[in-house]
Amino acid sequence: MKIIMYGTKAAERPFVKEWQEITGNEVKMVTESLSAQTIGMAKGYDGISIQATSSLGQPDFYRQLAKMGIKQLSTRTAGVDAIDLAACRDNGITVTNVAAYSPRAIAEMGLTQALYLLRRIGEYELRMGKGDFRWNADLISNEIYQQTVGIVGLGRIGGATAQLYKALGARVLAVDPNRNVEYAPFVDEYTDLDTVVKTADIISLHTPLLPSTKNMLAAPQFAKMKKNALVINMARGALINTADLLVALKKKQIAGAGLDTLADESSFFNQEVPVDQTPVDYQELAQLPNVLVTPHVAFFTKTAIRNMVQISLDDVVKIVSGKHSPNEIRL
Ligand code: NAD
Repeated sequence: MKIIMYGTKAAERPFVKEWQEITGNEVKMVTESLSAQTIGMAKGYDGISIQATSSLGQPDFYRQLAKMGIKQLSTRTAGVDAIDLAACRDNGITVTNVAAYSPRAIAEMGLTQALYLLRRIGEYELRMGKGDFRWNADLISNEIYQQTVGIVGLGRIGGATAQLYKALGARVLAVDPNRNVEYAPFVDEYTDLDTVVKTADIISLHTPLLPSTKNMLAAPQFAKMKKNALVINMARGALINTADLLVALKKKQIAGAGLDTLADESSFFNQEVPVDQTPVDYQELAQLPNVLVTPHVAFFTKTAIRNMVQISLDDVVKIVSGKHSPNEIRL
């Protein structure tokens, strides 16, 4: 089978090569994204793998794909909002995604950031850079097994996070309107957001961004948190009101924050930009030794990239061969 893989990134190439060797199928890797301008590149191919992050095109675009004999679009992303699902249905195009490439990757990054902050590493680094090697009383740390961790959003990533903290002996609280039984062994108590805000030492966010979750942590919540509280956000930046977070950090209402996602990241998402052109909030956060900011890379592990690539390519083969995949999106 001949497959064209649009939007190929350097980190994906080794896993495509590995997949080709295992399956004997042929994959043409191109860096261009699939769009009205690049649709012609798919001519002569049996199937398509894409990285759908922005709108692919108008309904006519999907008619053109169907005319070329294309029966599927397999996106290597979890999100499918860039794909016009109604147009796919009307043109007999099956859509698949990769909903869970590696929940563990994101959970491990959240835990790593929490431990870094808990042990005050950024603050020690700053002081040592100035020749200050003293053991100051205000920098004494806590140990993870004596901490209460509040997981907000106990889905795939929240569940993996709960499992890690539970394994380290922490007390795990969970907030989720859907009680996911699969993760119950890793939870000490199901509770509500207010209780987590008031009692947790580490608050770890893992919900989708919805009107109901936007700004779920803002000034009223920061005011109720423990002074030693650490806020970890590996989900979506806008779950937190960044301006209020900055105030809470500066007023020492909370002890620190680990952020892999920022509310306003589209202007620098996976790009190199002059720092002074990034949002002012970001510049201020980056200056604080008790804040860690990473560029939306919690997912970026070899396991996750292999899964994204190879699950997507496996799905192309399944759909083009007339089989079904559990990753098909209901159209
Ligand atoms: P999921 O759908 O498996 O889990 C989300 C959970 O949040 C669900 O159980 C849902 O019931 C719960 N939820 C919804 N509203 C809630 C609320 N108001 N309070 C508490 N819980 C609520 O999703 P997932 O795969 O675990 O992803 C979680 C988040 O992580 C998403 O925002 C996703 O975009 C983000 N994410 C980040 C990265 C990264 O690299 N940083 C990578 C992948 C996903």
